[in-house]
Amino acid sequence: MNSRKLTVEQRKRKRRQDKKYYQNNKERVLERNKQWRIENEEYIRQWHTKYMKEKRNEPRFKEHYLGLQRNRRNSNKEKTAYFNAKKTLVARIEIIQAYSLGRCCACCKEDNIFLLSVDHIDGKRLKEEIEHEKKYGVKMAGLSLYMLLKKKGFPKGYQILCYNCNLSKGHHGMCPHQGFTKKFQKLIKELNLNV
Ligand SMILES: [Zn+2]
Ligand SMILES: [Zn+2]
Repeated sequence: MNSRKLTVEQRKRKRRQDKKYYQNNKERVLERNKQWRIENEEYIRQWHTKYMKEKRNEPRFKEHYLGLQRNRRNSNKEKTAYFNAKKTLVARIEIIQAYSLGRCCACCKEDNIFLLSVDHIDGKRLKEEIEHEKKYGVKMAGLSLYMLLKKKGFPKGYQILCYNCNLSKGHHGMCPHQGFTKKFQKLIKELNLNV
């Protein structure tokens, strides 16, 4: 029945009936609602996106919604930070296991997981990573990169390096543990460095 076509009196009565029904059948109603949400997940998502798009710029809504978000963020700050750190660490361990049998840096064998990172062997990146950088202006890293690699079934082209070896490779073209590019060979010779 379309409640919009009811008279005010009818609507009031219906609301009373619904309320009574809910009080008497609370568990059943909650279970049914939960089931409905599961079955209509996609519909709800679309509805929510559409709703937010329409409402987003209304000043009153904005104020209310942003306030809610802020309150939730502030009251859960510590909890959220802890939860995020845990999620990242678990994902990182999974990535390290997937890309390194010895769970260590492919160059210097450092095995402290807090010092290990994901390296693009030839600098090649997945299209999702390129799109991410275009969209946000920063390279995909941390949890989002771990999640992407997991989703893609740990594709080839990645390895585990410690931060030292990874950064040095970026700066010098190769990690100094492995040798030097021509430019640095020349510099080392000219400055007579003992490395
Ligand atoms: Zn290393
Ligand atoms: Zn190294």
